Amino acid sequence: MPGGVNSPVRAFKNLGGTPLFISSAQGAYLCDADNNKYLDYVGSWGPLIVGHAHPEVVEAVIKAAQNGLSFGAPCEIEISIAEKIRSLMPSIEMLRMVNSGTEAVMSAIRLARAYSGRQKILKLEGCYHGHADSMLAQAGSGMLSLSIPASPGVNAAVIEDTLIASYNDSQQVKDIFARRGREIAAVIVEPIAGNMGFVRGGDEFIKTLRQCCDDSGSLLIFDEVMSGFRVASGGAQSLHSVRADLTTLGKVIGGGLPVGAFGGRLDIMSEVAPAGSVYQAGTLSGNPVALAAGLKTLELLSADGFFESLAEKAKSLCQGMKEAARRAGIAFCCDWQGGMFGFFFREELPRELKEVKQADQELFRAFHHAMLRRGFYFAPSAFEAGFVSSAHKQADIDASAQAADEVFQRLKT
Ligand code: PLP
Repeated sequence: MPGGVNSPVRAFKNLGGTPLFISSAQGAYLCDADNNKYLDYVGSWGPLIVGHAHPEVVEAVIKAAQNGLSFGAPCEIEISIAEKIRSLMPSIEMLRMVNSGTEAVMSAIRLARAYSGRQKILKLEGCYHGHADSMLAQAGSGMLSLSIPASPGVNAAVIEDTLIASYNDSQQVKDIFARRGREIAAVIVEPIAGNMGFVRGGDEFIKTLRQCCDDSGSLLIFDEVMSGFRVASGGAQSLHSVRADLTTLGKVIGGGLPVGAFGGRLDIMSEVAPAGSVYQAGTLSGNPVALAAGLKTLELLSADGFFESLAEKAKSLCQGMKEAARRAGIAFCCDWQGGMFGFFFREELPRELKEVKQADQELFRAFHHAMLRRGFYFAPSAFEAGFVSSAHKQADIDASAQAADEVFQRLKT
């Protein structure tokens, strides 16, 4: 396997050291192949909002599996999960299930281009939308809104249609729209970015995106693959009074199994085949076993007080670490929403990628390794968000803050 892994960030490449090889996981804990136990703040990169191997999720999966692993034909649970998602996220009037976040984004972009009859997509720097060619773009140096491929093998001609603006920079977005608004099919954005650490899209910024799209007839796509049903039961979009035209989902809606979805306005989604002519398909899409895990997870997170309790834990963790860093005189800031959080070794919360990159990476690496040695597993990259689940107990959070305190005391110079 390239780099020994099936997805790059797992390899600890930027962190140094050897990744854990996991043999089992239960609740808030991972167990590695050497039988060491770790409190897990990665949660499989977001999906496991009710913890690992939640008994009700596992039971739903077993029941579904006993009934047949895949039908390749319509089945009832597809309707149940579609109705559940629509009830939690009302901007989604119609949706299509797929198998990953990448697939959801790729399909939503094709649909936006077809619906609008335009080619350009405006992407915000630092947001990750999966690995489809058109989304693997980075800002060309010094050239406002011009992009270059972020990976060899990405077709430069495809990337020409991806425009880039800085996250939270409303003026830059307005300038791009003033020059090229009539060419823009859609803006795609993580309303809370989780792929440059945790960076909140400001309310004014999100409203500017909506306004620019409305003024120029472009579509607004919220990529909620990570934030959907993770920061609030209605996703990040429920925190703003802004309605997306299309939303992409993944992670939590599969409860740990491979599921994605894209959905939104009825008139737009009705263009998807076979209702319309925009082609999109999948042998295993709407797989009954995967949807059983997702539906049960969505049911569990719909319980009264679920997100309040999750947010309390994220807050307690962030504040505990912040206080520990303050005692050690280490520059540190953090933010959270629902069950998602992020921290940076710098004084102030970053608002965009350039500021994220100014955080102290060396300190992050030292912190990560020291916490791992003490049995606390954070995402092995300074550019990833963290996650708490309903399986995390206050005692786990307190132990984490205590360990962070020890580590910061050692790290202080
Ligand atoms: N969009 C966002 C916001 C993501 O965080 C991710 C994955 O981390 C994706 C899309 C891609 O999803 P997947 O890894 O399921 O293809």
